[in-house]
Amino acid sequence: MTRPTAARPADGPAPAPGPAAPVVEPRPHPDPTPAARRRALLAEPPFGEVFTDHMVTARWTPDDGWGRAVLEPFAPLRMSPAAVGLHYGQSVFEGFKAYRRGPDRAVVFRPADHGRRLAASARRMAVPALPTDLFTAATEALVRADLDWIPEGDDRSLYLRPVVFADEPHLALRPARSYLFLLLAFPTGNFFTGGQRAVTVAVSEEYVRAAPGGTGAAKCGGNYAGSYLAQEEAARRGADQVVWLDAVERRYVEELGGMNLFFVHGEGDRAELVTPPLTGTILPGVTRDTLITLARDRGMRVSEAPVSLADWREGCARGRITEVFACGTAARVTSVGKVLTGDGAWTVGEGVPGPVAGRLSALLAAVHRGEEPDPHHWCHVVDRSAPGGRAGRERG
Ligand SMILES: *Cc1c(COP(=O)(O)O)cnc(C)c1O
Repeated sequence: MTRPTAARPADGPAPAPGPAAPVVEPRPHPDPTPAARRRALLAEPPFGEVFTDHMVTARWTPDDGWGRAVLEPFAPLRMSPAAVGLHYGQSVFEGFKAYRRGPDRAVVFRPADHGRRLAASARRMAVPALPTDLFTAATEALVRADLDWIPEGDDRSLYLRPVVFADEPHLALRPARSYLFLLLAFPTGNFFTGGQRAVTVAVSEEYVRAAPGGTGAAKCGGNYAGSYLAQEEAARRGADQVVWLDAVERRYVEELGGMNLFFVHGEGDRAELVTPPLTGTILPGVTRDTLITLARDRGMRVSEAPVSLADWREGCARGRITEVFACGTAARVTSVGKVLTGDGAWTVGEGVPGPVAGRLSALLAAVHRGEEPDPHHWCHVVDRSAPGGRAGRERG
């Protein structure tokens, strides 16, 4: 499915002529962050607070569609207070990561899949979809320019945040006729502070995240805004995250905050994974798909089947469910230790991270670091020193 688009080594065969990749016009920062200051920031990167020197921007207009992308200094925007995106929420985003592979090299994990999902989210919100090749070119340009911002070491990466929103100044009730694409990046460490512990989760009985026919499968800002009140209530109950149930019967488990959920049945060689199916109310996580594939490639049985809250509770009581974990780009693999409901609480397994979550988490990290084979071509190489690399060719 994913085409290998790794940058070519300098001494590799000449690239075959093909359709020209989109050009990202470089307007580099005249005064980038001094190296000493950058290194200090990279020592303990906070999540989403310190951004790199650059960003990529592109604009959509009815006449030109998505025009040329520009790599430019990260800076505040000027826009009309009547911009549609601010008022009516025509806005979609993505989240994915680049990992360090040496002084001049990084890999971006499954960028084309994130580009396709951004396009799918855009369609749902009546936003013009950004072409996947423009998305990939923007990613390469930013990672290349800010490669020195990628922290080294386990659990560290560069988080990439694309967003597309309506910036046309009008308040009529129709989709906008002008959109802005931004690609930002920030260095990140571990999402959950406190190292590898199992989290406590609270089931939201009052609120729902997504309803059939709604926007649950789209990565849009409104889905997050709509979840924060429940997240605050869960925190008051002493939980780290909210468990979302289906909106119709309030019976089936859908997601954990902004992460997908997996249930482990059995132990050792007989362990099997179950994850809720993608029926339109669940965000189709790239990490979810990655873990399903990694597990199946290693002979593990994985089924996509509904899991009710009652199944979860009873499965834990009888020892049938041995582990539960959530996954997503930001927090990777996170074990669930304890479940709180209005009707009592229970512990999952021993209440600590289990061996299946540990094994899959280690496997995923090894794929990111290039210590495991990559038969599905998930790792997209960006090599600053290779003039034959795609982004290098475009500029030449
Ligand atoms: C982004 C997101 C996920 C995880 O998706 P990944 O592609 O694995 O990062 C899961 N659930 C929700 C609601 C999300 O917004």
